[in-house]
Amino acid sequence: MAVDIELLKQGNRRALAKAITLVESKLDSHRLEAQTLLETLLPDTGNSIRIGISGIPGVGKSTFIEAFGKHLISLGKKVAVLAVDPSSPVRGGSILGDKTRMEELSREDNAFIRPSPSEGALGGVAQKTRETMLLCEAAGYDVILVETVGVGQSEYEVAAMVDFFLVLMIPNAGDELQGIKRGIMELADALVINKADGESINLATRTQQHYQNAFHLIRHGAFWAPRVQTCSALNKQGIESVWQMIVEFQNLAVEHQAFAVKRSKQNADWMKKLIHQMLDQRLKQNPSVQEKMLALQVGVVENKVTPFTAAKTIVDLL
Ligand code: GDP
Repeated sequence: MAVDIELLKQGNRRALAKAITLVESKLDSHRLEAQTLLETLLPDTGNSIRIGISGIPGVGKSTFIEAFGKHLISLGKKVAVLAVDPSSPVRGGSILGDKTRMEELSREDNAFIRPSPSEGALGGVAQKTRETMLLCEAAGYDVILVETVGVGQSEYEVAAMVDFFLVLMIPNAGDELQGIKRGIMELADALVINKADGESINLATRTQQHYQNAFHLIRHGAFWAPRVQTCSALNKQGIESVWQMIVEFQNLAVEHQAFAVKRSKQNADWMKKLIHQMLDQRLKQNPSVQEKMLALQVGVVENKVTPFTAAKTIVDLL
């Protein structure tokens, strides 16, 4: 599956789409080809700001991304929208739905929208999205938006691959209603209260104050205290100031030498995670391990072998 690297670097959408298909392929031969391609392109990656956007279904993610993306394009940016959808087809289809939602944005020449890779495990989906992000950067996209839902581990996966993590919320000061957990507050660089329009304007302001106060109680990094803003994605209000905030964040991060450091750490963590995944896969694929594992498991259950000895015996087989 030959990908034309020069065309991809010129921003050719077909070449980019083909490269993404290669990265998403489950065939071993394609995996190898994809890694060679990524390595060739590595010097051309990294020149973007990577923004994670999360929020419960119905909060207005696609409406926001459409308005935000169009604003960025009006500033001369090239915008890629990727998604990490943790739902497996087995469990009843995607939560984010297909991306025909962002109809206006998808018609823009300078926008590239790609739905979530459909792989069972969240780890696999996130891995592919990371690689797709690199391909988009090599194709000249300078803003990468990674959308996800406020469900399970997906927010952690996305926060671990972006420079700035934004959580969308609706005007309502009750934490429980929005299922927002302290963990998410710790991940967020900003909360944006969407639907601040019509009768909800006052409630949106109160919600903003509520969360701004809540942030004061959480300790954060040296140069950035998370902010809370309001917007109406529907009326395209407050969208510009979200972008201004992110630009300010980026400038501060660069100034404090935190931008590159965060990315390096993310890459090192990603590597460690992959090692675990690969070891796990190798264990599962090794027939003698499988055989031995069953026997040892019986021994452990019957208290004849310690879990430590059993685990070591298995690992020593590799
Ligand atoms: P998603 O599930 O998070 O992607 O949410 P959508 O973008 O599909 O929006 C869910 C619903 O909320 C739709 O009916 C939108 O029209 C509506 N919506 C989105 N943003 C706003 C907003 O800023 N104000 C109001 N009033 N409604 C909005």
